[in-house]
Amino acid sequence: MTIKDSLLAVLMYALPMNSNRRMIVRMLKQVSRSPATAVARINYVNISNFLRFTKHVFHCPICGQQTTPIYDFPNLAVRREHKIGVLRETLQCRKCFASMRQRSLALKLLEHLYERTTVRHESIAALAAAGLGGIRLLDTDNFSAISNLLRKDPSYIRCSYLPDRNWGTEIEPNYYNINLEQIDFHDASFDIVLTSDVMEHVRDSDAAHAEIQRVLVSGGAYIFNVPYDERLEHDIQLVDTSTAEDVYLCEPQYHGDPLTGGVLAYRVFGRDLISKLSNLGFRVDFNRLEQEEFLVTDGDVFIAIKKD
Ligand SMILES: [Zn+2]
Repeated sequence: MTIKDSLLAVLMYALPMNSNRRMIVRMLKQVSRSPATAVARINYVNISNFLRFTKHVFHCPICGQQTTPIYDFPNLAVRREHKIGVLRETLQCRKCFASMRQRSLALKLLEHLYERTTVRHESIAALAAAGLGGIRLLDTDNFSAISNLLRKDPSYIRCSYLPDRNWGTEIEPNYYNINLEQIDFHDASFDIVLTSDVMEHVRDSDAAHAEIQRVLVSGGAYIFNVPYDERLEHDIQLVDTSTAEDVYLCEPQYHGDPLTGGVLAYRVFGRDLISKLSNLGFRVDFNRLEQEEFLVTDGDVFIAIKKD
């Protein structure tokens, strides 16, 4: 670490959590470590977005608080390469740090629960306070703001993918080590399954989707986000998985992951995804969400209902 990096690190930790000043120092620290990313991060689009959104007061559908977002100057070249919208992974809630993608997922989950129970919760925090009422939910994210709020509910099960440990192990109460290609739960164990930018990292996503269909009850909902380009008929395969070894078809793409720092993406989904899920017995809806009060713009979320 250079003296400049050390000074930026000290400055960053001296600034208030989730403040714009801290975010900007963190971004400058990252750029200082990787100067080639400077143009992709400090540019007209990012500065305009920062100015446009930074004072936008919104209601967070996860923590339930009124707040303004953090715009973290994403690397636009990486966003383009990964086929992920500029705003999707940023505009974090200043209170619970949920990204716009996670808010899209939460809004669809709350809407689904309203249709199912006729009880409307204005946020995941309100849902957590009221309780899931026995609705069994499997969430593949152990680190998200949604997970932090719901994890005390006895019918909320969370899981991670930890290949160096035995599959099916209960790591903590209601927290399991699960390979989605072979889920260690009985048929019809869940009413809802949530995944958020997970399926592009699963080597055999078709097998995982068949498993999700199996562990859902009839009428159960699979609510998820993935990198998706609706203009594409077929998935873009980034890795050839037709043999036992991964064969990279382009420069390997790694997405941020709280467990490993970066996890290999196997594909960007195209419209094939909808027909494959339909063939498995799901009724599939892809939603583009525009909900200014929740600061969700061009949000993307799928809901797939298991048919009877
Ligand atoms: Zn929040």
